[in-house]
Formats: sequence, structure tokens, C-alpha cells
Amino acid sequence: MHGSVTISQESRLLLSNGNDSDTQMTSEEHRKTDLYWMKKAYELAQKAAGQGEVPVGAILVDSDNQCIGKGSNQPISGNDPTAHAEIIALREAAAGLENYRLPETTLFVTLEPCPMCAGAMVHARIKRLVFATPDPRTGSAGSVYNLLNSPHLNHRVDVVNGVLQQECATLLKTFFLNKRKKCESL
Ligand SMILES: [Zn+2]
Repeated sequence: MHGSVTISQESRLLLSNGNDSDTQMTSEEHRKTDLYWMKKAYELAQKAAGQGEVPVGAILVDSDNQCIGKGSNQPISGNDPTAHAEIIALREAAAGLENYRLPETTLFVTLEPCPMCAGAMVHARIKRLVFATPDPRTGSAGSVYNLLNSPHLNHRVDVVNGVLQQECATLLKTFFLNKRKKCESL
């Protein structure tokens, strides 16, 4: 896909960024940390699926590698079109820090963000996005739109994809397959 990087390219991307927090960690350590947090996001996605919501989970981590926000998709149960996993995680972190800006943070999410969530990430000034699987319908980190690296916006977000991709994609596929089966049996 265009406009993003695979996990194997991540070390090169980090080297090219060349700032302190990145160079302190080796690419192998980054890979392990990314996988650790994506597994947590995956658990949140499973929780969403259990509630009949599209299985997407998100975790926001600060520069000390501490979780400061988490969310699972809940627009249906919350009667809230904005209640995507990423928005919930950003809101929790911003409320906790009492700051609407969240610089030096990394957002882990199981599915490539939609335009609304990518826009919120730009507003919040998050530093880095790690997502598991691309969304060919509304993906806004390179698949359909590239809002996180747009020359028209005043903030750029580093993007990494492909972490725990298979598991997160299978969770989504299974969810929609079951939903279709249910509809057909009606
Ligand atoms: Zn979204």
C-alpha cells in the first residue's frame, strides 16, 4: 500500500528520524514493544466484538512507555458516531493529563484509522501511529487518504503498519462473516 511502511522498514524509518527517544531503543526493542502494545489493543478489539461492535481496539502510550489511554469501538452501544476506539483512547489520555495536546505519544490501533480519527490525531499532535491492518475503504494513514502526512496540515505523524496484522485482520473478517450469516438466516 502507498504512503506507509512495513515493519521491516521500521528500523530505517526510525534511524532517519534520528531523535533521542528513538535512538535509545534498538529496532528489535521497538518491534517487541510495538507487538506488546498491539496485543493489548487486540484484546480491546475482542472486547468490542463481544459487544457486537466492529472489533477495533486502541492504546495510547507516552514517551515513558506507559499506557495513558485505551479504547474499544462502541458507537452502537454508546449511540455515538464518534465513539471509535482511537477517539476514546485520546479522550481518556487528554482528560488524565488535562491537556488537549498529546505530543510524544504513540497510538496503537488494530485497524487503520478513518478520516475522523486521523484528524483527531493531528489535532492532538500525537507523534507516532502503529496500526495492524489497512482499511481499503476509509483508511486515512495512506490506504485511501493520507491525512497523517499531508502538506495541507500543520502536523505530521510517523506511521508504521503490519504489527500483528494477521490476527487483527482475521478478527475483523470473522466478525463480518458472522454478521452476514446472521442476516442471511433471518
Ligand atoms: Zn475512526
